[in-house]
Amino acid sequence: MTSPPTSQQLFDRALAVSPGGVNSPVRAFRAVGGTPIFMRSGSGAWLTDVDGHRYVDLVGSWGPMLLGHAHPEVLAAVNDAVTRGTSFGTPSEPEVLLAEEIVARTPVDSVRLVSSGTEATMSAIRLARGFTGRTKVVKFAGCYHGHVDALLAEAGSGVVTLGIPGTPGVPAHVTADTIVLPFNDRAAVEAAFGEYGDDIACLITEAAPGNMGVVPPAPGFNALLSEICRRNGALFISDEVMTGFRVTASGHWGVDGKVEGWSPDVVTFGKVMGGGFPAAAFGGRADVMNLLAPVGPVYQAGTLSGNPIATTAGLTTLKLADAQAYERLDAASAELQRLVGDALTAEGVTHVMQNAGNMFSVFWGIDSATNFAEAQAQEAWRYKAFFHAMLDAGVYLPPSAFECWFVSAAHDADALSRIAEALPRAARAAAQAKEST
Ligand code: PLP
Repeated sequence: MTSPPTSQQLFDRALAVSPGGVNSPVRAFRAVGGTPIFMRSGSGAWLTDVDGHRYVDLVGSWGPMLLGHAHPEVLAAVNDAVTRGTSFGTPSEPEVLLAEEIVARTPVDSVRLVSSGTEATMSAIRLARGFTGRTKVVKFAGCYHGHVDALLAEAGSGVVTLGIPGTPGVPAHVTADTIVLPFNDRAAVEAAFGEYGDDIACLITEAAPGNMGVVPPAPGFNALLSEICRRNGALFISDEVMTGFRVTASGHWGVDGKVEGWSPDVVTFGKVMGGGFPAAAFGGRADVMNLLAPVGPVYQAGTLSGNPIATTAGLTTLKLADAQAYERLDAASAELQRLVGDALTAEGVTHVMQNAGNMFSVFWGIDSATNFAEAQAQEAWRYKAFFHAMLDAGVYLPPSAFECWFVSAAHDADALSRIAEALPRAARAAAQAKEST
């Protein structure tokens, strides 16, 4: 009998047939070095790789696995749905149920289901441009909204400058209408609207950014964004692809983590609401959403949008994500943050841990990060050493210092004790790491 392929063998084969051997760049371990681990299965808080090693998972498929892997009720619902067929290209009941659940739990009046967070933000921007008849889009440096051309922009040298493409393949004219501002900078927001207010179709922000590490909005910052958009006739797009249904039972982070008094124009969702399948959504005020085809003239469509298997997985996940699940998740995340903080402090590693609810990340060698420039000043090289020591001890962390750590409601005492055992050695490795390593 031939033995199954190892991670290294699979990676070598993948390299021959895919760019970098992966289907999404961060999976390639370029930021931490080494060979990516190929996973075979997951259960609760744990992953098992193709070589038979078990890991406590702190990536959670980059956010979706709120309940942990292979939750029995999600699997049962998916298995049941699959027996009836996998895609019809017609409306079906599960998509109505999922849309009803999203509308009931969040402040949106109406949603359109799509297949990825990228599609959601791309469509939300098109909708905002169609609604306002304007072209400019404001975004913040360090906020990631998927690989939408217009949003892959980096700021020029001034505070209020028009974006230049952040990647080859995006023509300059595509980002020329993107204004990139420093996060948490009220003066920059005021200045941008002062200069371009009449041309700004929308401002998009991560409701609580997790893509430059976790950098929460300062108190009142999201409220300012919402208010300044209203004052200038622009739409406020709150990207909750990561925060949505992860940070609170109310489904979103909103303004200052509160639901009251918040009336977003458009909100994007993804990750958790797909239950581990490709499903995402954008929703908002009825008058804005009704501009979408077939009611209105703004075109948006998708062969697999509202797919019955994905929507069944998402709906079942959201139904199981009750107040108790969030309590377990929040408690596990708080305990994990305490464990990591204590271990790093014991080894004298300068760090700061920042969180937005149960989402958190560690910044190395600095004592705060309120925007992307500050986040980039961290000693990311310490994380490499920490990451590999944790991996060797059976803890799977995000393979980059600039990513959020994702805990699930299935992270129990067993999972936490594996992490607690791994931490002292990893903290020592971070303390002893040298910049060149
Ligand atoms: N928006 C945010 C805040 C995200 O974190 C991501 C992905 O990480 C996206 C959008 C893009 O989602 P997707 O990867 O499903 O296209």
